[in-house]
Amino acid sequence: MSTAVNIEGLKKQFLECPICNELFNQTNRHPRVLPCLHSYCYTCLKKLIEQSKYACPLCKSDFFVQNISVDSFSKDNTRRDLLDFVRAGDNKSVIQCDECENEKAISRCKDCFRFICKSCLAAHKTMKTFSGHEVFALDGFELSMDHVSEFRHAGMCSLSNHQKNPLTLFCAGPDCQKPICYSCCLTSHMPTDKKKHITRDIETVYTEKATSMIEKKDKILKTEKELTGLSKSINEQLDRLADNVDTTKTEIQAIFELACEMLQRRRDLLIVKTDQLKKEKDTLLKKQDTEVINFIETIRDACIFLDQTVATKNHSAFLLLSKTISDRLDHLQDTNFDKQPRDCNLISFNKANLGAEWQRFVDTVGKVSSSSAFSPNTKVTLPTAIESENDFDIIIEFFDYDNAQVSDDMIITCVLFERADAPLTSLGELSLTHIENGKYQTSCKIMDTGIQRITKVEVMMNGKDFYAVELNTMIKKKQKEVTTIGSDLYWDFIEDTVIRGKGPTAVKSKLGYLLSGPKLSDVNRKLGAVGMFNILTNHKMKEFKVESLEIDIEHENENTDSINMYQNISVEFQENRYVAKLPWKHYHDTLLKN
Ligand SMILES: [Zn+2]
Ligand SMILES: [Zn+2]
Ligand SMILES: [Zn+2]
Ligand SMILES: [Zn+2]
Ligand SMILES: [Zn+2]
Ligand SMILES: [Zn+2]
Repeated sequence: MSTAVNIEGLKKQFLECPICNELFNQTNRHPRVLPCLHSYCYTCLKKLIEQSKYACPLCKSDFFVQNISVDSFSKDNTRRDLLDFVRAGDNKSVIQCDECENEKAISRCKDCFRFICKSCLAAHKTMKTFSGHEVFALDGFELSMDHVSEFRHAGMCSLSNHQKNPLTLFCAGPDCQKPICYSCCLTSHMPTDKKKHITRDIETVYTEKATSMIEKKDKILKTEKELTGLSKSINEQLDRLADNVDTTKTEIQAIFELACEMLQRRRDLLIVKTDQLKKEKDTLLKKQDTEVINFIETIRDACIFLDQTVATKNHSAFLLLSKTISDRLDHLQDTNFDKQPRDCNLISFNKANLGAEWQRFVDTVGKVSSSSAFSPNTKVTLPTAIESENDFDIIIEFFDYDNAQVSDDMIITCVLFERADAPLTSLGELSLTHIENGKYQTSCKIMDTGIQRITKVEVMMNGKDFYAVELNTMIKKKQKEVTTIGSDLYWDFIEDTVIRGKGPTAVKSKLGYLLSGPKLSDVNRKLGAVGMFNILTNHKMKEFKVESLEIDIEHENENTDSINMYQNISVEFQENRYVAKLPWKHYHDTLLKN
């Protein structure tokens, strides 16, 4: 598969020094590689070091090393191959013959690593020294990265008296790790017993190192893929954030529009109410006014009537009417009327302090918030071991990506898991209380003794999944109290079902079935002294008293009905089982300590 080649791109990226923009060469512009894999020509790098500038001009990485000199940095000879490849492929450039340095080169010898002109090629073909050399024509040469290796130069030993020796070996000595020539191998890199110098075939070492490097590349490409995914996630988060901001703004807009509407409705209501009050007061006052005006009219009418009767000066006629007129005037005089307008109150809008109150209220309306918490920095603290039925604390602390404790006030809940896919449903979602900046706490207990460990805590922030923390908290069973059952409580404890067989007898009790008498395997050996029962149900027996043990402590085992043995038993919890011991006298001390 051939790869398309962009000559200008290749030149810019690999063949020019980024500082002086000159093409690299094998002398003063020999490329040197910094640890960040950026290359500069020998001259430019030397200048940088002389000026004590130890940061890569391209990526700003610090490249300072102890005893720094240009020679501390590896030469890159692959650029020379690439340069010849680019020269051969670039039809704009004319390549000079490397032999005569005169004619235009038309071919390249893969074994001399040189461009050759037409006449030199003729000589090259006939001379014995060059027999077997592989020469290819530059005309029609396909510019594809697959052909770069055809321009490969053999590395030559740089030691002065080894100049013509190709680097065909590799010294794998711990302090060498470099290609050497056969003369080196016989002199300064002479292998010794002390394994200071180890000569290896350069081809093998190349294959090994190239293979391992390609493995490393495949591995780092996985990281690259992961990073690409991360970048995608970051950008998705940025998109989500942009959407989220729009949604949030719309929500704010909506609630405030609603608030405005509510206020407008309230305003309109108050205006209507004001009009209503005014109307009521108007009606009342106008009614009073009508009454008053009527009264005035009545008084005036009476006065006019009187004036008219007096004006005639007809004594007898007046006297016939005088009582009626007098009564009328007295009646009018005695008529009570409200001396004041019936409603002197004005309508007032009580806005006392409303401005300040509102300001206070408005300042608390709504809250825009988020958290700076970085989920991988979440710290969940649980005891390493918990006893069931005992309270324990869960503390969850939040930090931002700089590991600073976050100060946001959030709603934090969590779910505990026994296994990755098995949440402790009996506990459900636990709510935590804010203790201080970014620190939340709750206390809980596990009642279900079947649960053996907590392996995961899933944390939720403001109702959304935030982070899951793996841990390993063991849950120990609560230690059971040793239960002693006395004969006075025997019938409270024993129920009436008895199962008898060849082996031990089973008696139904509030604890479950009690087995007594010889075990089946013990029958032949006539050992009836072992009494034992398994707890089939989980039952608290605290009400049984130790004192009642004194009763009937002395009877002999062989002659006693096996059921009666349980009139006096002590029970101990051993390795998940209740073990009943026979009440021989020498057990008294042990039993009474309970
Ligand atoms: Zn340069
Ligand atoms: Zn760099
Ligand atoms: Zn020539
Ligand atoms: Zn040749
Ligand atoms: Zn050498
Ligand atoms: Zn060596």
